[in-house]
Amino acid sequence: MRDGFKAYKRIVVKVGTSTLTHANGQLNLGRMEHIVRELADLHNQDIEVLLVSSGAIGTGANRMGMKKVPRTMPEKQALAAIGQGALMHMYEKIFAEYGKTVAQVLLTREDLDERMRYLNATNTFLAILNLQVIPIINENDTVVVEEIKFGDNDMLSTMIAGLVDADLLIILSDVDGLYDRDPRIHKDACLQSEVFEITGDMEENSNSRGIAFSSGGMLTKLKGARICMAAGIPLVIANSSETNVIRRIIAGEKLGTLFVPKEEKMQARKKWIAFCTVLQGKVKVDSGATNALLNKGKSLLASGIVEIEGDFERGTVVAVLGSDGREIARGMVNYNAEEIRRIAGRKSADIEKILGEKDYDEVIHRNNLWVKC
Ligand code: GLU
Repeated sequence: MRDGFKAYKRIVVKVGTSTLTHANGQLNLGRMEHIVRELADLHNQDIEVLLVSSGAIGTGANRMGMKKVPRTMPEKQALAAIGQGALMHMYEKIFAEYGKTVAQVLLTREDLDERMRYLNATNTFLAILNLQVIPIINENDTVVVEEIKFGDNDMLSTMIAGLVDADLLIILSDVDGLYDRDPRIHKDACLQSEVFEITGDMEENSNSRGIAFSSGGMLTKLKGARICMAAGIPLVIANSSETNVIRRIIAGEKLGTLFVPKEEKMQARKKWIAFCTVLQGKVKVDSGATNALLNKGKSLLASGIVEIEGDFERGTVVAVLGSDGREIARGMVNYNAEEIRRIAGRKSADIEKILGEKDYDEVIHRNNLWVKC
């Protein structure tokens, strides 16, 4: 699969705070310069690049002479406001040396949660790329509250890759990739060059390690990897300290860990459902419906629903739990929570009698359903 990377035309690269800063919190200018140079060079080869960059809060903390990032949300938000400008100033300066123009894009989860706003964001990105400009993306930390955060830029970069239908996502970090065991404890741990499936064991063995100025860890990367694989987008996690790391990955060198995607690319609408929506509730289904959704490519009908959690509107996205309680799918509902409570377990033919009207036979149509693999 890596051989095919050379032909790719749209690439998202994510760099974390640990890559962009030294241990003392100061910007690692050498590292930044290398990454910018590599991206500019790809751009010179007519490859569209998008950079998802962390580092705002860390840079802000450093500017303020703090040794580590404070805990409270308002303080972090203030530091993000201070650091984001400083970070962009540096990117502007270095990219300009290579004749490149950059665009700052700050997003919140809410911007992508609603279908229209998601489509608007897609169009904006495409317009920026059409102008031959390199978008530099971060979460709009200054205005988000905990409940509506992406949480970390690993997840944000996954969503951006889906949003722009990228050919490849590269996450650069301070780790070499995914090991079979924790390499800090087990000296003989092996780096996994290719991963075809993310197992529960892998997630359990990963942790949310983060250095003083950064967030995230392998666990968030695996969550993103799971979505990328399902969406048909290859993801490489590699160590940012490798020389010419981006160029070598694209040349097909076996650096880091490649998460090999499923063959087919997910439809745009399903991608939005899988990547970007905030789940508004849960619908539990019986074993017949579990089988129909997982193995037969069917829509979700009222007759298979056994339990509803939450208070959601028509058109929102909910989790579908299988008969063993595990999340098996996500989908956009045609009826609100109250209506589903009334029609649960009943035949589609009865919906009109019960609700007084029937716009849809299905509670979630197959086209609006993303079934997890
Ligand atoms: N948005 C945060 C920042 O710029 C970083 C989040 C992350 O490290 O994943 O500081």
